[in-house]
Amino acid sequence: MTDEAELETLRREIAACRICRDAPAKGPVHRLPHEPRPVAVISSSARILIAGQAPGLRVHESGLPFDDASGDRLRSWLGVDRVSFYDRNRFAIVPMGFCFPGYDGKGADLPPRRECAPFWRQRVMSAMPQIELVLVIGQYAQAWHMAGEERGTMTETVWAWREGLLSGRSPAVLPLPHPSWRNSGWLKRNSWFEQELLPYLQERVKMLLS
Ligand code: SF4
Repeated sequence: MTDEAELETLRREIAACRICRDAPAKGPVHRLPHEPRPVAVISSSARILIAGQAPGLRVHESGLPFDDASGDRLRSWLGVDRVSFYDRNRFAIVPMGFCFPGYDGKGADLPPRRECAPFWRQRVMSAMPQIELVLVIGQYAQAWHMAGEERGTMTETVWAWREGLLSGRSPAVLPLPHPSWRNSGWLKRNSWFEQELLPYLQERVKMLLS
């Protein structure tokens, strides 16, 4: 387990990061168009990590991850209330990009900033060796945490969740769809997710929080 003082240093370094504003990977034209506000919950004791994509505007403004309808759905999937969810001794929450990336031309959130994971992610994961289960949400988290075990589509990757757990990877990884309302249709079409995966997830979470 990493010393809490070392983690606090890491948290401060991340909070001060301005790479995407000052040294964007693809040159000045791809500079982050607003002041970076990294949002990540890094823990010395949580056994569960939620690996998402990147904060949206609301999280950028509040600094609180998953403080929206998606978060409510994620908490119901996990079977936990807000108090447990925001207890950093219980859950670490580290997206693939720590800062709100802005919008594309159609008004949709851009992908996580490409600078973030190469610079920070291995260091963050190394600082949390106690993590036993990573809940991977979205293609960018799946690509990093499942490294070659992800399938061609999100549905195929989540469908194969048991194989991922049996692969012996440490920490274990469990792929999830994004809990956004945009995936309500997907949830209806894939009833196995609520009937088979969620009961397992809730049992595993309960065990890891006990
Ligand atoms: S997205 Fe990551 S790399 Fe970019 S400024 Fe924020 S913390 Fe730094």
